[in-house]
Amino acid sequence: MKDKLRRLPAVNTVIQAQDWQKGTSEVPAEVITKWIQEEIAAIRHAMQVGSYNGGTEQSELLTQVCEAVNRRLAEDGPYLLRRVINATGVVLHTNLGRARLSQAAAERVAKAAASYTNLEFNLEDGERGSRHAVIEHQITAITGSEAAMVVNNNAAAVYFILSVFAKEKEVIVSRGELVEIGGSFRVSSIMKESGAHLMEVGTTNKTHMSDYEQGLSSETAMIMKVHSSNFTMRGFTKSISAAELTALKKQHPELLIYEDMGSGSLFPFSNYKIGDEPEIKPAIQSGIDLISFSGDKLLGGPQAGIIAGKKELINTLKKHQLARVLRVDKLTLSALEATLLAYHNEERSKEIPAIRDMLKTPEELKTQADRIAEQLERMYCCHVREGTSLPGGGTMPDVLLPTYIIEVTAPKLSPSALAKELRRQRIPVIVNVKNNSCVIDPRTLDEKDERDLVSAFLSV
Ligand SMILES: *Cc1c(COP(=O)(O)O)cnc(C)c1O
Repeated sequence: MKDKLRRLPAVNTVIQAQDWQKGTSEVPAEVITKWIQEEIAAIRHAMQVGSYNGGTEQSELLTQVCEAVNRRLAEDGPYLLRRVINATGVVLHTNLGRARLSQAAAERVAKAAASYTNLEFNLEDGERGSRHAVIEHQITAITGSEAAMVVNNNAAAVYFILSVFAKEKEVIVSRGELVEIGGSFRVSSIMKESGAHLMEVGTTNKTHMSDYEQGLSSETAMIMKVHSSNFTMRGFTKSISAAELTALKKQHPELLIYEDMGSGSLFPFSNYKIGDEPEIKPAIQSGIDLISFSGDKLLGGPQAGIIAGKKELINTLKKHQLARVLRVDKLTLSALEATLLAYHNEERSKEIPAIRDMLKTPEELKTQADRIAEQLERMYCCHVREGTSLPGGGTMPDVLLPTYIIEVTAPKLSPSALAKELRRQRIPVIVNVKNNSCVIDPRTLDEKDERDLVSAFLSV
């Protein structure tokens, strides 16, 4: 053993073995030196605990260290924003960046990123074009709306619509819909920020048509409906739909009806017995003036706020100064275009990762869980059992998706210490700690994630 340890290369030997900076000029030499030290320490540790099974000749050990550092160079570079493996089963994990893009969308983004595009250029006449044009057609084709545009996120869309159409005027909102989404977004606060005056009507559990009627005055610009994305009310409740509210426009032709739909579901999840999230298409058909929704919740695309509705209103928004402030870049547009294109065909839309993960069956998940457990059992104690996963992202609060989880315990590490070690791996793995074990839910793991998760566990 002592012999083997002595054959480990010195840090300087590794530094001299290769031109480390070549082709990776952005990684500072100190960082590479630190990695070399860490890799040597990792092999030394593995030898000491008897888990090292590579070659032990001097040259073999040098190669081992060089290869390990090269792998880190290739995967991490100097980056702080990195790929992580989401083993929590929460499909739209807000802290882990919500939806991941489909392969097709990621490829379109890479292409657009590295080239010039016709972002604001009309290829027909060679004149200046509109960045709205490339995406508007996709949105109207799928939602059936007259017109559409895209801004930075749905919070921006809400702010934009209120500022443009309701500044210094009243906006009627039911008390049951004054929601807070994830701490930093409150309907009442965003409204204040926009300069619109909130006119609360009804009660927490019941709002009737008469409440809206009584709230109307010469100051009213809009009735806003807000989807209660992250909570549900049951029991003695009543609310008025946007479709019903459009009837008020007969006597008040200037009145705007707008709905913040929250998560924009373009997929018929309820046909698959998953929740009862309102779909976009029927909302548009109800004759509503404007709707807005997120691009990276159930839609499964990039962070974006999609606004759809009447042409005249969308045109006003497009021409407004704020449109420039809130506009999205070519990367968002190309990701969104590719994501929306998949919705032309239900089968293709199931390839969008957020939808694919939501639809995974317990049978598939059991196979996946068994396969992972089998590989981890070499080092850990694993129990596969039934569990539930959450859609996340502040959407479908009622829905628990049946899954199979793996409860993992390590012989010498507490669950929280193991979770911490997993976060420190080359590709960090995020697990839940529950019932005194680390819990893996395979719902959010694709094939590559699964392989990388197993190597992360085995190299702790
Ligand atoms: C999520 C959500 C928002 C905010 O959307 P972002 O895309 O995160 O900005 C606004 N309103 C509702 C009802 C939501 O569910």
